[in-house]
Amino acid sequence: MAVDGSHLVQRQAPADATRAIHHGESFANETGTVMPPIFSTSTFAHGNAGGFDYTRSGNPNFRILERVLASVEHCNHATVFGSGVSAITAIVSGLSQGDLVICEENLYGCTVRLFEQVFAKFGVRTEWVDFTAPGACDILAARKPAMVWLESPTNPLLKVIDLKKVCAAAAAADVPVVVDNTFATALVQRPLQLGATLSLTSTTKYINGHSDALGGAVCTDDPSWHQKMVFAQKALGLQPSPFDCWLITRGIKTLPLRLKQQIANAAALAEHLAGHARVNWVRYPHRPDHPHRAVAMQQMNSGGAMVTIGVDASRDLAYQVCKALRWFTMAESLGGVESLICHPATMTHASVSTEVKTKLGISDGLIRLSVGCEDVSDLIDDLDQALGVLR
Ligand SMILES: *Cc1c(COP(=O)(O)O)cnc(C)c1O
Repeated sequence: MAVDGSHLVQRQAPADATRAIHHGESFANETGTVMPPIFSTSTFAHGNAGGFDYTRSGNPNFRILERVLASVEHCNHATVFGSGVSAITAIVSGLSQGDLVICEENLYGCTVRLFEQVFAKFGVRTEWVDFTAPGACDILAARKPAMVWLESPTNPLLKVIDLKKVCAAAAAADVPVVVDNTFATALVQRPLQLGATLSLTSTTKYINGHSDALGGAVCTDDPSWHQKMVFAQKALGLQPSPFDCWLITRGIKTLPLRLKQQIANAAALAEHLAGHARVNWVRYPHRPDHPHRAVAMQQMNSGGAMVTIGVDASRDLAYQVCKALRWFTMAESLGGVESLICHPATMTHASVSTEVKTKLGISDGLIRLSVGCEDVSDLIDDLDQALGVLR
C-alpha cells in the first residue's frame, strides 16, 4: 500500500525517490485505483468520513499532494495554493499592519512587487538586506522584525545565503524565517532542517516539472503557522484546482529522476561554458569559482540545475544569442524537462531601474539557463552555435 512515510518508521524510513512516488490514501479505496481520481467537485455531502465540506477549504486532491510534499520535505505539514504567488500572499496575510519584514535584497521579482505594490498599502513594511554581507545578521537583533524573508539560490545571480546562520540569528531574536526554496527544491536543500519556520515553493517549477500547471505550497513543522496557512487557503480563496493538484501529484513522482538528469546536465554545461571564449563568467553553486561555494557545499547536496552566465554583449546581442537557440526556448519560468533561457535585462527584470539592476549585478550580458532533461551534447552544441552570434 502506498504510504506517506509516517507509518514506515518501524522499518527503514523511505528515501525521497520512494516518498515522491507513493501518496497515502487515495480517497477511492474500493476501486484499488493506482492513480487517484480527479475530484472535480465544488462541495461535499455533510458529515463525510474525510471531513470535506467545500473545495475552497479542502479537497482530496489537495490532501494527496500535501502529503507527498510534506513527506519529501520531511516535515509535518504542507498546504497547497493556486500558485507560488498565492503561497506568498498566504504567509504575508499572517502578518499585521505595522509589521516589518526584513528581506534578502535579491528576491524573485513578483515577491518584490507584492511587498512594494500590495502589502505596503496594508502597512506591512520592508527593509532590504544583502544577507551574504558580513555582519548582515546584526540587523535582526537591532530591528526586531516580525519576519525574515530569504531565497537561496537567488534569481538570477544564484547567490547562496547561509540559511543556518541567518536562521540561528533569527531564532535568537525570536523571528520566524521564510525560505523560498523554489530553485533548489527539498531534494537539494531542506530549509526547515536548517532552521527556517516556513519553506515556500512554487510547485509550478521543478515539483510539477512539465510546464503545464501552476501551484504553490508552504511546508512547516510549526502548528500555529500551519493553522494560518489552512485559514488563508480558504478565507482568502488562494486554493488550487483539483486538476492542477492531480497534475502536480503526477509530476512530482518523477522529480528525483528528472532532477538527477537536470543537475548532471547543468554541471556539465557550466563546466563547458566556463571554458568558452565568448563567456566571461559562469555562476553555478558548486563550482570552485562560486563566491559562496563553501556555504553551497554545506547546505545543498548538489549545485542544482540553474546556471547563469555573463557574455560580453550589448542588450540586443545578448537577446539575439537567446533567440538563436534551438533547444532552449526563450521564456520566463524554470524547472521543466524542457530547457529554457531567460535574458533578465529584457524579461524578468525589464521593469527594474538601471540603478537597482547595477546594484544587484544584472547586466545586459547576463543570461540565465534553466537546464532541462535533453541530451547534454545537444544542449552544448546548441549553445556553441548560438554563442557564435558574438563572433
Ligand atoms: C516562479 C516563482 C515564484 C512564483 O510562483 P508562481 O507559481 O509563478 O506564482 C516565487 N518564487 C520563485 C523563486 C519563483 O521562481
